[in-house]
Amino acid sequence: MTSQVEADVAVVGAGPAGAASALFAARRGHRVVVFDKDAFPRDKPCGEGLMPGGLPPLRELELDAADIALGAPPLNGVQFGLPHEPPAIVAFPQHNGEQAGLGIRRLDFDARLAGALARRPSIQFHPQTEVRDVRWARGTPPTVVTSTGEVRVRFVVIADGLRSSLRHRLGWTVGPRPPHRYGIVAHWQVDGPVDPWVRITFDDGLEVYEGPVAKNQRMVGLLCYQARMREFSGRLETRYREIVQAVRPELREAEQVGPVNAVGPFWYRASTVAEHGVFLVGDAAGFTDPITGEGIAAGLRQARALADALDSPTPERAYRAAHRRLTSDPRRVASLLLRLTRTPKLVGRGIHSHQRAPQTLSTLLGIGFGYWGFNRITPREWLRLFTGR
Ligand SMILES: Cc1cc2nc3c(=O)[nH]c(=O)nc-3n(C[C@H](O)[C@H](O)[C@H](O)COP(=O)(O)OP(=O)(O)OC[C@H]3O[C@@H](n4cnc5c(N)ncnc54)[C@H](O)[C@@H]3O)c2cc1C
Repeated sequence: MTSQVEADVAVVGAGPAGAASALFAARRGHRVVVFDKDAFPRDKPCGEGLMPGGLPPLRELELDAADIALGAPPLNGVQFGLPHEPPAIVAFPQHNGEQAGLGIRRLDFDARLAGALARRPSIQFHPQTEVRDVRWARGTPPTVVTSTGEVRVRFVVIADGLRSSLRHRLGWTVGPRPPHRYGIVAHWQVDGPVDPWVRITFDDGLEVYEGPVAKNQRMVGLLCYQARMREFSGRLETRYREIVQAVRPELREAEQVGPVNAVGPFWYRASTVAEHGVFLVGDAAGFTDPITGEGIAAGLRQARALADALDSPTPERAYRAAHRRLTSDPRRVASLLLRLTRTPKLVGRGIHSHQRAPQTLSTLLGIGFGYWGFNRITPREWLRLFTGR
């Protein structure tokens, strides 16, 4: 590679946010170059639920769900509760004809997105190429420094994930903010009919988050506050299995398959998401917590907004405004859900209030998906949610 302006847009990271940014930009006529440090297929620790709001951007990209999410089971909604008690059943709200999500296996889903990048003539895709730096100076195009050379472009899109080393190099990282939470995830083989629900079972200081993916497997994640992480020291796999089977006895007959991976802490923000031709998308632009299962869909929506912004006379300003609009309410929902589920007692209250007003939590999910605003929930419903009365 040389230091000439070789492309309009360079994208760092070919996860869902980066791949979709590249595909949306290419559809608008931009010449795009994409770098990812990994070879595909590669796995990514994730709850693997594609929420319903993630499907329209995929369709717009003409990535038919049947192709991108081959064999992925539908997700009807969330069942949440306490161990050994009947759960509260919260169906995903209907919005613009969309209701079900999909249980996608990241190993396959991300590889199919990478395949779409490789097929598009206006995209040059470079897997196994690490980006080490992004340099910019006022009035000159930004330069991307990779493990194989340098490339100058008009715009750089940084989509290198939660702990974004490039956001850090730019000095834009805020967080991680305490209380720290971590995820420990693995897959389980479960025979029998597919259970199309995300199930979240809360215990003291952690929750078990599970959902179906292809081939009769369930992704089962522990989302833990720091105090419970000490239990895993030197015995990650054994303690993971013990807790999963204690909190979800239904999994005692199932077999855990593949590795157990830990990730975290969560809650990162960026002091800015766009400056001087450099843009942050997806987790790199900020992430609150997996509790809403919204990260992939959020990244896809941001990618679409970014492509619109690149065509505006002031792309940075346009993207900052769009990003704020897309993320502020969903972030508040994530923070709210964390507060509402902080202890088993609070979860009990939530279940009780759900029995009295079954629509409220479904509406709250819809706000988290970016469907509508907080004014959709009445003051009386808020009171009930917090007091259980
Ligand atoms: C435990 C857990 C459970 C979750 N559950 C869900 C869920 O159920 N549903 C949901 O929608 N979201 C969930 N999320 C969030 C979701 O995983 C993320 O929001 C999503 O992966 C973000 O996509 P991304 O493209 O921004 O980043 P990533 O998917 O992390 O992709 C980043 C890419 O950048 C590449 N990269 C990194 N650094 C460099 C570099 N220097 N040079 C080149 N390439 C680089 C990486 O190789 C990677 O391919 C969960 C997250 C966690 C941790």
